[in-house]
Amino acid sequence: MIDYTKHPEYDNHELVKSFYDSESGLKGILAIHSTKLGPAVGGTRYYFYKSEEEALDDVLRLSRGMTYKCIMADVKYGGGKCALIAPSTDNTKSDKYIEAYGNFLKEFSTKFFTGEDVGMSQDDIERLAKITPNIIGSLAKAGDPSPFAALSTYYSIRGALTFKYNDPSLKDKVIYIKGLGKVGMELARLAYKEGAVLIVSDINEERVAQAIKSFPNISVISSELPYLEKIDIFSPCALGKDITEEVSNKIMADIICGSANNQLSSPKEGITLFERGIIYVPDYISNGGGLINVVAELNEGGYNESDVLNKCKNIEGKVINILNESKESNTAPSQVADLIAKRVLNE
Ligand code: NAD
Repeated sequence: MIDYTKHPEYDNHELVKSFYDSESGLKGILAIHSTKLGPAVGGTRYYFYKSEEEALDDVLRLSRGMTYKCIMADVKYGGGKCALIAPSTDNTKSDKYIEAYGNFLKEFSTKFFTGEDVGMSQDDIERLAKITPNIIGSLAKAGDPSPFAALSTYYSIRGALTFKYNDPSLKDKVIYIKGLGKVGMELARLAYKEGAVLIVSDINEERVAQAIKSFPNISVISSELPYLEKIDIFSPCALGKDITEEVSNKIMADIICGSANNQLSSPKEGITLFERGIIYVPDYISNGGGLINVVAELNEGGYNESDVLNKCKNIEGKVINILNESKESNTAPSQVADLIAKRVLNE
């Protein structure tokens, strides 16, 4: 394995472990960033990485993001993530593969709790839950976190709208949602219901067709072009790193707030957006609802949906506070949020 301690994304992670099972083909990297506030939680990503280096980059960033996300969501857990290196773009996984991964996870049954992320299906989660106890988000427990990730994104948009216009309503606001997956489609539904003007894109034609059917009057655009017409809100809900140098310098939006993890291709994009007067809501705050929902099943008193809904709603106020702090300190919201998370970790 590559020397991960020299990797730019390495942040004194507590554990980084690569693994390979020749019989099933299972290959991946587990990263536990911190268990200082509680056991680590974070999804398992199954992705056709071009190299081990690319998987390492992803898992180091995502696991640190989970630590920060737990702090912002007010849950007493730490950050971890597992990246499984898929041999192709096909997401099907054999029983042997699932069994090998479940057995690997058993080693960390009190230290790392994991569930669904990109490339992992609900069925994969159900199969894993039969093998190892440290699986979260199975249907018998908290279930699919996506509607809650959409809800916290929606509340974050309301927080940003309140900060900008003193009015949280999405009515008549032009919102471009990139990625109509489990989260993006639900966010589209919430925004549409409130009277927003929807612009959407997805590389999957079936998802686009479904959106056109569900939300008459929406506009569809090609996702590969940065959006150059003036819009109110850009909501990245596909994969990460959508806010590239080009996008941060050219996009004409008042607010950027979506569900995707790792939206900024580098921290400097957060600063560029701030200097251009564009409000960027840090992704690990806006998409915290998914985490809030899955960890609720670990609570001593058991899963309580109204508690989950309240915690998602609280994110609206947190976003307003962070944006106010950003204004007062003349610092980008992405930097303010990182500083708050680091402060809590070091306390
Ligand atoms: P998903 O796989 O269901 O949906 C992603 C969608 O993005 C797919 O429809 C895909 O076709 C589309 N897409 C991929 N590349 C695209 C491109 N270049 N342009 C346009 N569309 C593209 O995933 P999801 O569960 O909806 O999650 C979306 C994002 O939110 C991911 O980054 C995920 O990590 C993050 N997230 C999800 C949750 C959750 O609970 N599902 C929680 C927190 C964060």
